[in-house]
Amino acid sequence: MAFPVPNPTAPFWLKDADPTLARHRSTADLPNQADLVIVGSGLSAATTAHNVYLQAAEKGLPPPKVVMIEARDTASGATGRNGGHIKPDVYYSYSKYKSMYGAELANRLMTYEEGHVQIYKDLVESLGERGAEADMVITQACDVFHLPSEADFARRSFLERKRDHPDDTKQIVEITDPQELLEESGIVGGKWGLTFPAGHIWPYKLCCALIQTSLEKGMNLQTRTVVVGLKRSVEGIWRVETDRGTISCRSVVAATNAYTSGILPEIFKEKIVPVRGTACNIVPSKSFIESKAKKVGGAFSNTYGIRFKPGEADYMISRQVKDKSIVLGGAKGEFLWDHSAWYDNVDDSKLLPGTQAYFESYASKYFKGWKKEEEEEGKPGGVERVWTGILGYSSDLVPWIGELDGEENEGLFIIAGFHGHGMPRIPGCASSLALLITSKLSEGRVSESVRKAFRESLPQPYVITSQRLQAKVNMIKGSMGQDPSEAKSNVHQPRRTTHSAHL
Ligand SMILES: Cc1cc2nc3c(=O)[nH]c(=O)nc-3n(C[C@H](O)[C@H](O)[C@H](O)COP(=O)(O)OP(=O)(O)OC[C@H]3O[C@@H](n4cnc5c(N)ncnc54)[C@H](O)[C@@H]3O)c2cc1C
Repeated sequence: MAFPVPNPTAPFWLKDADPTLARHRSTADLPNQADLVIVGSGLSAATTAHNVYLQAAEKGLPPPKVVMIEARDTASGATGRNGGHIKPDVYYSYSKYKSMYGAELANRLMTYEEGHVQIYKDLVESLGERGAEADMVITQACDVFHLPSEADFARRSFLERKRDHPDDTKQIVEITDPQELLEESGIVGGKWGLTFPAGHIWPYKLCCALIQTSLEKGMNLQTRTVVVGLKRSVEGIWRVETDRGTISCRSVVAATNAYTSGILPEIFKEKIVPVRGTACNIVPSKSFIESKAKKVGGAFSNTYGIRFKPGEADYMISRQVKDKSIVLGGAKGEFLWDHSAWYDNVDDSKLLPGTQAYFESYASKYFKGWKKEEEEEGKPGGVERVWTGILGYSSDLVPWIGELDGEENEGLFIIAGFHGHGMPRIPGCASSLALLITSKLSEGRVSESVRKAFRESLPQPYVITSQRLQAKVNMIKGSMGQDPSEAKSNVHQPRRTTHSAHL
């Protein structure tokens, strides 16, 4: 069953979590009634609540009675344990999207993500001092490809988008000379790469800033409360059943990402699949930072995608403020072959096999100028923490946003299934979803004109439709470079203990 497990591994981002907010309950008892119940407290939940309050105020409505319910501590799901990278996909999936949706929609999916760098900047600024705590920095993403075959695949997709949409691709700069790539990136062994605008942030702190702001507007947050079921009466009242009692409301949002099938098994079991992922933080030595500080204050001046075989991409940010930690995620070559280790698996209480050793040998293998002797004692590779997190992979690769069709589902809103790539999508999706929710709150039902505005505000593939829900498609394993027809396998395969297999 897709429910969050207790005792998850401890990520870097939560190390100075505010204990008051982490286990916050606005009232000792669960309220028994609300206008809107939001299940989840990650970035999807937090941005949805924020936008509902903003849009309700813009419409001159009184602040709605919102209850947010979180199974564990505040934002302790994927949002509290991700890579912190706001990295739009500006080329890699273009050819694939074009074959699925045509050239215009493929481009729309990419410009939508690109626009999120500015959306975060504006959002953080609008939150004042609280927003500043989230340490957002606009950077250049630098993708470094190690295998010529994978570089060829990516380059074809990049050139196709460039040819189809020259005006939208001007900020993407290709680097074809491996020596130049090494100088630009500081990553050893790359054959081809490119750079484009991106950002990085402390996602947990942004999420908490948004939740604090909503609490001040009257939201009731109930952490450590598990929603176990949703039932709707013929009168249109939803009963949100939890392990601490039931709340009645007319509108519910499932902002439950990987865990959506826990509360909506019939609809989402085959559509949003929990997938285990991992990341770590590396503490670079002072001399390493100083030797690299040619442009900005971190150990590396860019953020990175470091790509090996299909599905085996690492991602990395280098915090340019305060602690200067490097956050590195991926390590998929260590466990992808063992489908049961990651596919349809919600256990973020344990590390994935082989990942600690992978991260610990990473810096000396791939970081130009990294000297092993500078590492702090007891921290091989400078690795401080390794953690696991659960991503909500989508059967057709794109998120699920909207109100479910049918009278029996009226008032049930979904924002989930970000396919491990929520940062450059979630705030925009939440703003669109809030259009539907505020229409329902003010008019009793979502009006047709608002529904149209909602559809136009999003890339069309994100919108939940009956056709999408009925489609018998599952591209998840294929998108990870795995054979989709292969059954989940427990057959023993030799463990890779070095990275050489990737190169
Ligand atoms: C290791 C890792 C690295 C990643 N790196 C990046 C990255 O660098 N860039 C990027 O764009 N994306 C990244 N992602 C993905 C990104 O973190 C997600 O897309 C995003 O955080 C999703 O936010 P969310 O609010 O939808 O889901 P979540 O943050 O997972 O929030 C869902 C919440 O719902 C709660 N919940 C679920 N079921 C119930 C229930 N029944 N009752 C009560 N509460 C419930 C959960 O406890 C959880 O807190 C990464 C993810 C992981 C795990």
